Amino acid sequence: MSMNTQGRPSAPADGTASAAPETFTGNKALMIEEPLLFEIGHVDNCGVDVPDAPDIGSRLGGLERSEPAGLPGLSEPEAMRHYVRLSQKNYAIDLGIYPLGSCTMKHNPRLNEKMARLPGFADVHPLQPQSSVPGALELIDTLAGWLKEMTGMAAVAMSPKAGAHGELCGMMAIKAALEARGEARSTVLVPASAHGTNPATAALLGYGVKEIPARDDGTVDPQAVADLLDDTVAGIMLTNPNTCGLFERDVIAIADAVHKAGAYFYCDGANFNAIVGKARPGDLGIDAMHINLHKTFSTPHGGGGPGAGPVVFSQALAPFAPLPEVVGEGDDLRLAEHRADLPQSFGRLTAFHGQMGMFVRALAYMMAHGSDGLRRASEDAVLNANYVRAGLSDLMSLPFGDRVCMHEVLFDDAFLKDTGVTTLDFAKAMIDEGYHPMTMYFPLVVHGAMLIEPTESESKASLDLFIATLRDLAIDARAGKTDRFSGAPYHSPRRRLDETRAARQPRLVWTPAEPVKEAAE
Ligand SMILES: *Cc1c(COP(=O)(O)O)cnc(C)c1O
Repeated sequence: MSMNTQGRPSAPADGTASAAPETFTGNKALMIEEPLLFEIGHVDNCGVDVPDAPDIGSRLGGLERSEPAGLPGLSEPEAMRHYVRLSQKNYAIDLGIYPLGSCTMKHNPRLNEKMARLPGFADVHPLQPQSSVPGALELIDTLAGWLKEMTGMAAVAMSPKAGAHGELCGMMAIKAALEARGEARSTVLVPASAHGTNPATAALLGYGVKEIPARDDGTVDPQAVADLLDDTVAGIMLTNPNTCGLFERDVIAIADAVHKAGAYFYCDGANFNAIVGKARPGDLGIDAMHINLHKTFSTPHGGGGPGAGPVVFSQALAPFAPLPEVVGEGDDLRLAEHRADLPQSFGRLTAFHGQMGMFVRALAYMMAHGSDGLRRASEDAVLNANYVRAGLSDLMSLPFGDRVCMHEVLFDDAFLKDTGVTTLDFAKAMIDEGYHPMTMYFPLVVHGAMLIEPTESESKASLDLFIATLRDLAIDARAGKTDRFSGAPYHSPRRRLDETRAARQPRLVWTPAEPVKEAAE
């Protein structure tokens, strides 16, 4: 096998012959197969001149390192190119539609970034004296006010760092409220279509989970909830709109039944983007709900550290919300950090009071849109999902019939029956067309699920291109052109991965390669 200068094969590993000559050498090789920093760097290289340390004797009490740390040294351009090449392997919302259902991969407006970089926001430190950061407190309070307004709820905890963390926060408040009543209830109800974080959250808090079966139309039947309710049930965790992209039309009847049984209603608010400005969770009988700022309010997903998943609370649960909380009014805002301030609080969830960078971005997004713009964004998100549904419904199968959906549209794999093509194959073939696949095999209530959420960010042109591509794939799958699918992706840096093995036997530690031996000719 011929090798390039990095000692890597200069032809695809699987030996596939292709009509067009492919090059895998030179810089192209690096773009396909970027080595680790440890492989390209060298401990003797350094991008900067560091003066010799003065001999001041050790104050480390014998704990100083006895061997070099083995950090790879690179020049600035080498380091720069390494990271830019890695970034080019990523799919990103800045490159195209990112139709991952239930994730609300919307555009991250650059105005948000500009605001978050203002030194007064970017440089605040959580241990600064409160008197030196009145602006930051005001921003947190303003954002909290918008969140309460939009949800029609009494209080909001700003410290949770993500949706799943918000679930934990909300359920801890429910647990604290039950304990305050002297009740230790043992069960949480979770619909079959729920995100895995819901039962995981309940289980983490020691609750048993009872599954509510889905109705034929993909929604939850209040009678099925009533059948499971008794005085052992602490609460229900319901997603609305649910993960089938459908509004739970009996949500108020469900809330009433839950409250009548002395239980609480936790709503998974991940899909809030469908209803902002249209329906207020507080009016639906919800007691606690997290809001994923990285979904509904356009902060980056996983970008630059922890995110933010504020949790809104009803009047009934507000006293049990976590510390700290911004209290006071006008020029007199402060952080309530101690139990003396909020005696029934379940305590502290995180070290500090939340993720300032995300708060600034979310508030910038809200203020740029205004209340009419936020409502319009939700309407457009729903419109776009229905445009995708209408564009594909004759070729792909809709498990709950061809009816209006909310902000995401759910297909199943019935249209692939007897083609030999699976949902996974179909998704992999999308990668060859330059698209990030939709959410696959979730929710679990339909077979071979494909959940598509375009968001309001997409233009009609972008949606038309996406729909045309999926139509082309669906036609080829049904025409028996299985080659396009079975080996896909053909055009990505990595081909089909053994995902089970990657999950079961991850290689998490880098070990230096054996020195390359000269091949004996
Ligand atoms: C995204 C999501 C979550 C979890 O939110 P994270 O912010 O990723 O922790 C929970 N439930 C649903 C329905 C989701 O889509």
